[in-house]
Order: sequence, then structure tokens, then C-alpha cells
Amino acid sequence: MKEIEYQQHYFPGSRQELLQAVKKSVKAKRYQHILGVEQAALALAAANQVDLEQASVAALVHDYTKNRSDDEFKQAIKQYKLNPDLLNWGNFIWHGVVGAEIIKTELKITDTAILNAVRRHTVGAKTMTTLDKVIYVADFVEPGRDFPDVSMARAIAKSDLDQAVAFETKHTLSYLLNASQTIYPGAMDLYNQLVVKN
Ligand code: GDP
Ligand code: FE
Ligand code: FE
Repeated sequence: MKEIEYQQHYFPGSRQELLQAVKKSVKAKRYQHILGVEQAALALAAANQVDLEQASVAALVHDYTKNRSDDEFKQAIKQYKLNPDLLNWGNFIWHGVVGAEIIKTELKITDTAILNAVRRHTVGAKTMTTLDKVIYVADFVEPGRDFPDVSMARAIAKSDLDQAVAFETKHTLSYLLNASQTIYPGAMDLYNQLVVKN
């Protein structure tokens, strides 16, 4: 894969410098996943007329806070005056929604489109930009992912980004239901919207 050179200052530094910061923030396995998401996101961005540099930065930071402690997230929810209902949930939602604020502070990334893509990368949203969809889907189909339907998810992603969003949302929700896990209301919102559309 050819490396992309940062020119638009979404991050105040080079891609190499961003990689170093991300590497320091997460565990080794997570870092490998992040590199895979960037690769998948660049391909999806090119196919869907999304700015490649925005896609690269969003992909590289999407899980930047994934390995932070619950205490750090709870403190950040108060510090940034985020919706206190977030305190009732866990890492899966915090590393996106709260993560975006930490990314802004620590990495000096202020681009709203990039921060929103981070916020929406786990459960999506009723309204998603093409960049949001690229990151949401890239996270699901990156080369390191391995689950029974991943080759089907990759094929759909290659041919139709919206269908890939729908496939992933249904897949994740049905997995969560089967595993008797709680479902974040925002995840249901996206599902309901997709069912009406299709
Ligand atoms: P990752 O950060 O690259 O592992 O991927 P994601 O950010 O997409 O998802 C993080 C975790 O959140 C995964 O294990 C998902 O199964 C889980 N997850 C996504 N939506 C929900 C939800 O509504 N409820 C719960 N309990 N978990 C969810
Ligand atoms: Fe994530
Ligand atoms: Fe991820």
C-alpha cells in the first residue's frame, strides 16, 4: 500500500508522527488492527469519493483511547460535560464518544468530520456522512478481522457502502442479542432506520 502524505493539517504533524502517538496509546494487537482499518478505509474512501487524508487520520485515531481505564473515561465525561447517561454504559461506547474529546485534547485534531467519524464508529448514527460510513465499515472488514461472514462483508463493502453499513448493523445487533448483551439505544436507532429504508 502506498503511504499517504499529510498536507491538510487535520493533524499537526506527519503521518509517521501520528503513528507514533497512536502506537504509544494502545496495545500492540490494537495497533495492528488500527493499521488494518487505515488500509481498508483508504480503499473505501477512494471508491466513494472521500478525502483520503481525512479517512487516514480518522482510521488511525478511531480506537486511540480503546485501552484507557473506565476511571479515565468517567472522569472525562464529567470534565467535558458530556451527557451523564454515558456513565451507565461502558468502554464500547466511551472509546468513540468520549474518545473523540480526548483525541481533540491530546492529538490536537479539531476537524469535526473526523471527530464525528470516531464518535460514530461503533454504533453508527441515524445520519451518517460518507466518511462515517467508511470508518464504520473499514473497522468491520479490515484485513485482520476473522469471523464467519467476513468475506461476505468484504464483498458487499466493495460493491455498495450503504449495503455494507446495513449488513454490519444487522450482524452486530444479532450477535449482541444472541450473546444476551445490552443494546445501546443509538444502535437500535440505526437498525430501525435501515429496516424502513430497505
Ligand atoms: P473495535 O473497537 O475495533 O473492537 O470495534 P467497535 O468499536 O466497532 O466495537 C467495540 C465493541 O462494542 C465490539 O465488541 C462490539 O460487539 C461492541 N458493541 C457494539 N455495539 C454494542 C451495543 O449496542 N451494546 C454492547 N453491549 N456492545 C456493543
Ligand atoms: Fe472501536
Ligand atoms: Fe476498531
